[in-house]
Amino acid sequence: MREIGHFIGGKPVAGTSGKFGDVFNPASGEVAARVALADASEVNKVVATAAAAWPAWANTPPLRRARVMFKLKELLERDRKELSAIITAEHGKVLSDADGEVQRGLEVVEFACGIPHLLKGEYTDSVGTGIDAWSIRQPLGVVAGITPFNFPLMVPLWMIPVALACGNCFILKPSEKDPSASLKLAALLQEAGLPEGVFNVVQGGREAVETILAHPDIAAISFVGSTPIAETIYRGGTAHEKRVQALGGAKNHLVVMPDANLDDAVDALMGSAYGAAGERCMAVSVAVAVGNVGDALVEKLAPRVRALKIAPGTDPEAEMGPLVTREHMAKVSGYIDQGEREGAKLVVDGRGLKLQGYENGFFLGGTLFDNVTPEMRIYQEEIFGPVLSVVRAPDAATATRLINAHEFGNGVALYTNDGGAARDFANAIQIGMVGINVPIPVPMAFHSFGGWKHSLFGDHHIYGPEGVRFYTRYKAITQRWPGGTRRGPEFVMPTLGR
Ligand code: NAD
Repeated sequence: MREIGHFIGGKPVAGTSGKFGDVFNPASGEVAARVALADASEVNKVVATAAAAWPAWANTPPLRRARVMFKLKELLERDRKELSAIITAEHGKVLSDADGEVQRGLEVVEFACGIPHLLKGEYTDSVGTGIDAWSIRQPLGVVAGITPFNFPLMVPLWMIPVALACGNCFILKPSEKDPSASLKLAALLQEAGLPEGVFNVVQGGREAVETILAHPDIAAISFVGSTPIAETIYRGGTAHEKRVQALGGAKNHLVVMPDANLDDAVDALMGSAYGAAGERCMAVSVAVAVGNVGDALVEKLAPRVRALKIAPGTDPEAEMGPLVTREHMAKVSGYIDQGEREGAKLVVDGRGLKLQGYENGFFLGGTLFDNVTPEMRIYQEEIFGPVLSVVRAPDAATATRLINAHEFGNGVALYTNDGGAARDFANAIQIGMVGINVPIPVPMAFHSFGGWKHSLFGDHHIYGPEGVRFYTRYKAITQRWPGGTRRGPEFVMPTLGR
């Protein structure tokens, strides 16, 4: 059995805890490898390695840190096919989607290439007579990233390029469900010229995470995953005086206005609800049909959902692959049972799908519910599978109130031809990322990503300018050089400008 270990101090290291987790091939259902699960002593060793590497890395000029990023970009481009294959093998998503994941991660590396410019402070000449002042941003130290299964390369790349370019050392604790992409990334960073110990990977589950949360030499934690764990990480990390950004789950709505182009809205819903089998934090899982558009929308959606091409992610024809694990498939299937019990109208049922030759794979068909209402659990909770719920609303104001009342606030989309209505919606909606006629409004790398409400705990969104702020600390320096008149002690508030 292939064993997936850690990456510490510039080299692959086998686990020593004696504990392992299974890593599956989701298309066949077979165990493909086992991943080491670190105990506290292994995590402590990783932190010590990163802490030892930090002073030299922090003192490396930003321009030279940027050159590592330029090289990493080149290497990610060189190996993007291999990276996509690694993602598909353990996650299950189709190869073209995995390639898109590599691309969106790469774009954050491109952003980090500009770090000398991004770290420039502000300078004021003569804040007082013979006195100048300026600000700088300095790295935090050793920072950790804890990442989810659904983007095993892109989400780590939301964090790592910015954190490293800012002068921090990084410890990645990837998802134990698809851990191989993290090791390939570590090897590429090494090849790009990153000094040993600056980037490390520690595989593991709860014990590893709890050790990271409490470790006094970790200055900050970036977490992406489900809301209950995000909240635990935020509370635990801040209680240990760490800076924490913890991105959680989502329930993203797409509002279809009566004046929208229905075919465009249906295409948008198909891709955003069923792409990656719904295992995206920006997946649309609720369509809000405004006015009288509901019946026509469901009529157009249903045959498209039935016709989804579902196959292993390696099949070039596939639109949707399997779910990540058998356990997750059972959970999503359980939500479909729940929706039926709650009285939603099951228009297309994806349960019980068996693919010839892949009978043990974790496949679930596309599922469509109509007449879903806000009291139902299938409306309130994140399902994270290929299940789309249609909710009806009489007008845009009701749709806005409905969305604003939801626990989650990651993404939202509005389909309309009315610019004024779109403007009002974008202003009034309590959601972090808004798309107008764009179904999955994931900001580009030079903006920042993050939700509101229970989709993000902490003050900073991730990557882009917010990422630079998160991974650095602000310092203001006021300087006077000897010379001029001696003033003697001053016992009043300094008022330099006088
Ligand atoms: P998860 O919360 O189960 O796991 C995320 C990470 O936390 C993993 O590294 C895991 O090992 C660790 N973890 C899990 N249980 C833990 C525990 N009890 N104690 C300590 N650590 C624990 O999430 P997942 O299933 O891997 O990913 C899917 C979730 O991530 C969805 O809810 C999705 O919406 C969310 N997500 C959010 C965003 C975003 O940007 N907001 C992006 C991607 C995924």
